[in-house]
Amino acid sequence: MAVPKKKVSLSRKKKRSTLTRCKIKKSMCNYAICPNCTYLKKKHNVCHSCGYYSKNVVYKG
Ligand SMILES: [Zn+2]
Repeated sequence: MAVPKKKVSLSRKKKRSTLTRCKIKKSMCNYAICPNCTYLKKKHNVCHSCGYYSKNVVYKG
């Protein structure tokens, strides 16, 4: 079984947690403003406000 060689110091542990926080921020980068209605929508997804996706309306809602 793999065992850690050295004790992880508190500062190092905290650094790791900040890195995971950055990952959460990165997931927020998956959002973009809809060019049709300027509503915050997910990238590569149909806009929930106007149903707009890549220069054509997919659904009306
Ligand atoms: Zn839209």
